[in-house]
Amino acid sequence: MVLEQKNTTIAYRCPVCGAGVMSMVGVFSLSANMFKLKCSCGGSHMDINVQSDGNIRLTVPCVFCPNPHVYTVSRSLFFGRDIFLLPCPIYGIDVGFIGREGDVSVELERTEKELREMLEENGISDLDLFSGDNDEDDDPLSDPQIYDIVMFVIKDLQEAGDIKCSCGNGPYSIDIFDDCIRVTCDECGDFEDVPTDSTIAANAFLHAYRLELTNHKEENN
Ligand SMILES: [Zn+2]
Ligand SMILES: [Zn+2]
Ligand SMILES: [Zn+2]
Repeated sequence: MVLEQKNTTIAYRCPVCGAGVMSMVGVFSLSANMFKLKCSCGGSHMDINVQSDGNIRLTVPCVFCPNPHVYTVSRSLFFGRDIFLLPCPIYGIDVGFIGREGDVSVELERTEKELREMLEENGISDLDLFSGDNDEDDDPLSDPQIYDIVMFVIKDLQEAGDIKCSCGNGPYSIDIFDDCIRVTCDECGDFEDVPTDSTIAANAFLHAYRLELTNHKEENN
């Protein structure tokens, strides 16, 4: 007699090589608490953790952001949906996919198209964003315009009240690092890093409709 195993398919797009990385996850592989889905290029991985409360925590690499995004979903959602999408909190592009294999591959294809269009809008004809050794504009600091763009958008979002944090109040302060600009809520301490190390990411940020501060100060409590 065969017990039908409860399983789901998860996927993400590798920020290093651009490939869609997909795998089946069963309840049994998850009982190990920690599951790592790695890209065959070796450049990135997605982590799936089962928390003590039974919810599932996913750490998903983002094609644009320097740091992965963390999402928590319930077990029933993780195993029960045909398709569930995890969007980047800054750019809105879907970076994580959970669901049935067929639906997940359809979404992977759709976002690849979306990504291609985003790049083409910025005058890039293929996915060489991912090659990592593009021959021009290699020096992240060579283009001070990037900072201007990102700072402009942050100011704009702030004025429109489209920066979201735990307290929802702000005010927000801005720290400039080598590869990102960090927006921090002075009130609750939530923060988010906006990448400034690529022209593409900066241009994509122009399309941002809101900025969610997803990193919490008391995350370890
Ligand atoms: Zn890869
Ligand atoms: Zn992102
Ligand atoms: Zn706040």
